[in-house]
Amino acid sequence: MQKFKTESKKLLDLMINSIYTNREIFLRELISNASDAVDKLYFASLTDSDIQLNRADLRIIVSADEDERTVTVSDNGIGMSKEQLDKNLGTIAHSDSLAFKTDNAESQGEDVDIIGQFGVGFYSAFMVAKCVRVVSRAYGSDEAWAWESDGVEGYTIKPAERAEHGTDVILTLKDNTDEETYDEFATEFGLRNLIKRYSNYVRYPIMMEVTKTREVEHAADSEGEGAGHGEGEAPQTPQYETCKELDTINSMIPIWKRRGSDVSQEEYNEFYKADFHDFADPACTFSIHAEGALSYDALLFIPSRAPYDLYSKDFKKGLALYSSNVLIMEKCEELLPDYYNFVRGVVDSQDLSLNISRETLQQNAQLRAIAKRIEKKITSELKKLLENDRETYEQFFENFGRGLEFGIYNSYGILKSELADLLLFYSAKQQKLITLAEYVEAMDADQKAIYYATGESTSRLEKLPVVQGVLNKGFDVLLCTKDVDEFCFQSMMTYGEDEAARELQNVASGNLDLSTDEEKQEAEALAKDNEALFDVMQDALGGAVSKVTVASRETDAPAFVTAAGPVSLEMERILSQMPDGEGIKSERVLELNAKHPVFEVLRKAQAEGDAAKVRLYADILYNQALLMEGMPIEDPVAYANAVTQLMA
Ligand code: ADP
Repeated sequence: MQKFKTESKKLLDLMINSIYTNREIFLRELISNASDAVDKLYFASLTDSDIQLNRADLRIIVSADEDERTVTVSDNGIGMSKEQLDKNLGTIAHSDSLAFKTDNAESQGEDVDIIGQFGVGFYSAFMVAKCVRVVSRAYGSDEAWAWESDGVEGYTIKPAERAEHGTDVILTLKDNTDEETYDEFATEFGLRNLIKRYSNYVRYPIMMEVTKTREVEHAADSEGEGAGHGEGEAPQTPQYETCKELDTINSMIPIWKRRGSDVSQEEYNEFYKADFHDFADPACTFSIHAEGALSYDALLFIPSRAPYDLYSKDFKKGLALYSSNVLIMEKCEELLPDYYNFVRGVVDSQDLSLNISRETLQQNAQLRAIAKRIEKKITSELKKLLENDRETYEQFFENFGRGLEFGIYNSYGILKSELADLLLFYSAKQQKLITLAEYVEAMDADQKAIYYATGESTSRLEKLPVVQGVLNKGFDVLLCTKDVDEFCFQSMMTYGEDEAARELQNVASGNLDLSTDEEKQEAEALAKDNEALFDVMQDALGGAVSKVTVASRETDAPAFVTAAGPVSLEMERILSQMPDGEGIKSERVLELNAKHPVFEVLRKAQAEGDAAKVRLYADILYNQALLMEGMPIEDPVAYANAVTQLMA
C-alpha cells in the first residue's frame, strides 16, 4: 500500500472528520473533474490529428446502486495512466501554502475554506464515501488501472479492466449513523437533484438511467388475436410499466448565453462555484451581451474573497475563452489587465477562430477590443458597487484593493484617472474608510494638499506626533497601512483634475508648509536664536539626522522625526526589507517642540555650557521619536542606559 503524503493526510482527516454542511458538493466536484478530463481529450484532438473523436460521443454517466450503496461517476475523457493515478490522487497540492493553510485551519476550526481554496475536489468524495475506487484507462493505452482507498492511511493501485479510455470513480457510501444518513446519494431522485442544482451548465451531457413509465403495448391490439377480446367489448384500460432509460439531466445551454433577467442569482452562484471551484458565492456578478460587428457574451464575477495565492507568482489571471460554446482556452490572460486579475468569468464569441493560438492572440484585434470593453465594464461595475453597497465594496477593497494600487504604481501613475476613484483609505477625522473624492469634498477650499500617514496600524498612526500636528491644524489625515500605499501616492503625486488637483503629501515629510507667514517668521527667529544648541545636538547624533530644528507644527510630544527628501521613514522601512533596498535611506530631521518644557531645559543647559546634558538629551529625544514612529533604534542598550542615567 502507498501511504498518503503528510499534507494529503491532514486534509483528508479534516474532510472526513468535519461535520461539513455541504457534503453533497462531492458530486459537483467529481463531475467537474470528469468534465475537465473530457475537455482535455477534446482539446488534444484539436491539435493532434491522430485523435479521432466525435464530439457528440463525449459524455459523463452517473449511476447508483441502492442495495450496494455505490455511486459511480464515469467519463470517456482522457483517463489516467498508473503514474498519473499515483501522482494526481496520491497528493493534493504540492505547495507549502497548503501545509500552512491546513495548520491554520486546524487551529481555527475553518475546515470549510480549504475545500474551496484548493480545489481539492476529488478528496471531497471521502465526506460521503468509506471507500473510493477509481478505474481509469488513459487515452491511447490498452492498460487500465484501479486506484482504491479508504481515505485513512493510503491507497493501492492494481491492474484492472476497462473497455474504453476514461475514468470511473466508484464510491461506496459510508454507513448511516444516528446523526447522518447517506442513503439519498444512491437514489435516482437525490442524484438527479444534485446534478440539476450544481452541474446544470456542464458542457457535456451528464446522463443517468432514470425510471420512466410507459404504456404496455398489448399484443392483441397489434396482432388481433387477444385472449378472448371479442368484438364490441369495452376497450381495455391502458396498462403501464416502469422501465429504465438513459437520459441527459443537465441543460447544457451555457448560462452566459441566457439573458440576465431569465437567470436567478442563485443559478449564477452555483455556476460560479462549480466552474471556478470557489466555495463562497461571488460578491458581484455582471454580464455583457455584445452584438454587431463583433458579437460575444461575457459573464464575469468578482469573488467574495481573495484566493490564497493571489499575490504569489503562481497565480494566473485570465478568463475562460469559448468560441461558440467550445472552450478554447481556460485562462486567457489577454482579456484582463493585471490590476483586475481577480475577476473570474467566461467570454464566448462566435467570431473567434477555434484554432486561435497563443501567439496570434496578442495581435488579435477582436480580442483586444473585447478586453477593452471588459475593463471598462469592470470599472463601472465597481463604481456602482461603491455607490450602492458600501459594505460589500469595503470587503472587496480589503480583498483586492492592493492590486488596484499596484496598478497605479506600476503604470507610474498613468492609470490614476482610471483607478484612483476606486481606492479607499482610513480617515483619521471621520474614523472610517473614505475615497479621495470624499476627502476633498470634506476639506476646506483653501487646504492645499491631501495628507496621509503610513505605518503599521491606524491606531498607532493616529497617535503619532506628526499626524497629531496636522490634525491640530484642522486637516484630515488618511491613515495608510498597506505597504503599497505610499508607493501608489508617490506615483500619483496629485489627485484631481487641473485647478482642482491637490498634491498628496506624507505628513512625515519635513516640508509640509502648514504654517502661516507669521508662524514661519517666528520659527525662523527661534531657529536662529538656538543655532548653537541645534549644532551641538546634531553633532551628538553623529550624522543620524541631517538637521535639528524647530517644529513646524503643534504636537504634545517634545520632538519628532520627519524626512526632508523624497524617501519617507516608512518607505525606508519597507525598502530595507527588500533584497536590494538596503542602501536607501531617508533624510531625517529632528524637529523640536519649542512650547514643550523640555525645550526650556535644553536651552538652559546650553546657556550654562552643560554640553554633556545637551548631548544626552539629544540622544534620548531622537530615540524616543523613532520609537514613537515604530522605527528601530540603533543602539537600544545605549538608549536604556541614557534613560537610567536620568533616573538615578
Ligand atoms: P483539481 O481538479 O483541483 O486539480 P482534484 O483533487 O479534484 O484536484 O483532482 C486531482 C487531479 O486528478 C486532477 O487535476 C486531474 O489531473 C486528475 N483527475 C481527477 N479526476 C479525473 C478524471 N475523472 N479523469 C482524469 N483525471 C482526473
